[in-house]
Amino acid sequence: MHPFNKEASRYQKSKILKIGDQAVTRVTQVLKQSVVVFSKNYLPMTRVNIKRAIALLVTGKAEPLDFDNSSGWPVRSPSLVLYVPEQIRLTMASKERVWKVPPVNRREVLKRDHHRCQYCGVTKNLTLDHVISRSRGGKHCWDNVVTACEKCNALKGNCTPAEAGMKLLNQPKTPIHPTIAFAKHFWRERQHEV
Ligand SMILES: [Zn+2]
Repeated sequence: MHPFNKEASRYQKSKILKIGDQAVTRVTQVLKQSVVVFSKNYLPMTRVNIKRAIALLVTGKAEPLDFDNSSGWPVRSPSLVLYVPEQIRLTMASKERVWKVPPVNRREVLKRDHHRCQYCGVTKNLTLDHVISRSRGGKHCWDNVVTACEKCNALKGNCTPAEAGMKLLNQPKTPIHPTIAFAKHFWRERQHEV
């Protein structure tokens, strides 16, 4: 028997049958859920949608990870009920993708700043602003370049934010490895839940 099918039938016996039909979340709601993928070494890596999670489970590339008896979602097909947990763990070591700090350009800076002006928060007419302007020796580097809307950029001119009476919403930082960023965010969120 395929390991996942074994897991699935175990879950069917222990949980699905116990909770009964009423607790089965409607398929459309279930498909909107996402599942956290852990590496083989139990590091939270990323979130995938439930279809992707099912694909990983049924192909044996991942297994259910139910470390705190958290709930998951039963997904019904005509012949089977699969229990998809909130977390899964890859069964094989994932290849560490080579990652380099991205260049300081418009695309990457806007991405880091979630496409928001770092002074007023608007999401339109975005430009790049040097916090310490270049004419005053400010460098073109991750901790001196932020996303700013045209209005804020013009208002600030060559001043520092303090001189212009403006405040940065976030202190600009160099992006970190996406997996590490995800893990930090994941554990922070869980701490809030406890
Ligand atoms: Zn602005």
